[in-house]
Amino acid sequence: MTETLLPLNPSLIVTLAFAVALLLDLVLKFWLSSRQIRHVAQHRANVPEAFASTITLASHQKAADYTLAKARLGLLEMTLGAAILLGWTLLGGLSWLNHIVLAWFESGMAQQLVLLLAFVAIGSVIELPVSLYQTFVLEERFGFNKMTLKLWLIDLVKSTLIGVVIGLPMAALILWMMGAAGHAWWLWAWGVWMGLNLLLLVIYPTLIAPLFNKFVPLENDALKASVTALMQRCGFAAKGLFVMDGSKRTAHANAYFTGFGAAKRVVFFDTLLSKLSTAEVDAVLAHELGHFKHKHVIKRIVLMFALSLVGFGLLGWLSAQPWFYTGLGVAPNLAAPNDALALLLFMLALPVFSFFITPILAHYSRQHEFEADAYAVQQTSGQDLASALLKLFEDNASTLTPDPVFVKFYYSHPAALERLARMLPATQSVS
Ligand SMILES: [Zn+2]
Repeated sequence: MTETLLPLNPSLIVTLAFAVALLLDLVLKFWLSSRQIRHVAQHRANVPEAFASTITLASHQKAADYTLAKARLGLLEMTLGAAILLGWTLLGGLSWLNHIVLAWFESGMAQQLVLLLAFVAIGSVIELPVSLYQTFVLEERFGFNKMTLKLWLIDLVKSTLIGVVIGLPMAALILWMMGAAGHAWWLWAWGVWMGLNLLLLVIYPTLIAPLFNKFVPLENDALKASVTALMQRCGFAAKGLFVMDGSKRTAHANAYFTGFGAAKRVVFFDTLLSKLSTAEVDAVLAHELGHFKHKHVIKRIVLMFALSLVGFGLLGWLSAQPWFYTGLGVAPNLAAPNDALALLLFMLALPVFSFFITPILAHYSRQHEFEADAYAVQQTSGQDLASALLKLFEDNASTLTPDPVFVKFYYSHPAALERLARMLPATQSVS
């Protein structure tokens, strides 16, 4: 065999693969969003026939306008995101930051943590304007925002502090393992990462969520009685029924069920209780219980475990290859550890490739929603679930006429028409 004709070095292949994948991402995202924008705009003039008796034209048009405004902001975010990603990688941003940190800190753990912190800080500052715009212009315009600038700032400080308190020791532990645990460090790191995620699932409802919202026990006796009866019927024990002051930040309504084993708790947003009847709240809760009955929560955790095992394995292999760094625009350090650089490059590059599995995960999630709906229909009533769903769609200004391809690619929940068609008896089917 002769030498290959082209000087295809691995570094160049990484650069090309990354650039091509990023370009494909962008083309696909723009194509999907423009489909969604066109479809929603085309159906703005009339309420779809199936909803003609339940949804007003004004609500339908508000939903269309809200969806369009979000989709247009999404286009801007995509463009900005791709530019920032290119800036960090191929255009040399991360390499530049790495050199600055190395000039100030002696190589070692502190230098690596400073690099991670500086990266996160710069990224957060770049994202601030879009986040502010989203809350105080877009959400405000449609009447959803209930936050003051002061509350927004307090939230920012709190979440930054929580991020530092949890994230910094975690990052230090992983960096330490990368340097000290040998070739199989990634397996240890994966174990620690999973442990932390499970711990967060357990402590989130009782320790973290209360830092942002007030949770008071449900006081409405009639509702309490019917919810308790429903849970008994379904074989669930909950530690408590709580109402959360969601209205402090947003007019969007929701309900959720958290925790494990005997520590499960049901949380209703105050915004949900103010809009739904007792029977409708029961139906929404039954849907949430359906997720537990079908073990969706466990399945999701197992899937997350498996995907992150693949991720850590890949990171373990890539972090030892010089071309992984050079191919993504960073010269690896010769006299300092490269572990923090490897983590950052991996976090930056991975979503570019994992974007293509979005429709698979979305499909899986929509199946779960259908199963939870079916469970709720068995335990309560399809009529109540349908009317609750419609109220929530109307209240959240969710469009009833999304583009079918956009739904297939992104939607974690099926479109309203599909859900209603399955939950209502055939004689009253809306489809
Ligand atoms: Zn659900």
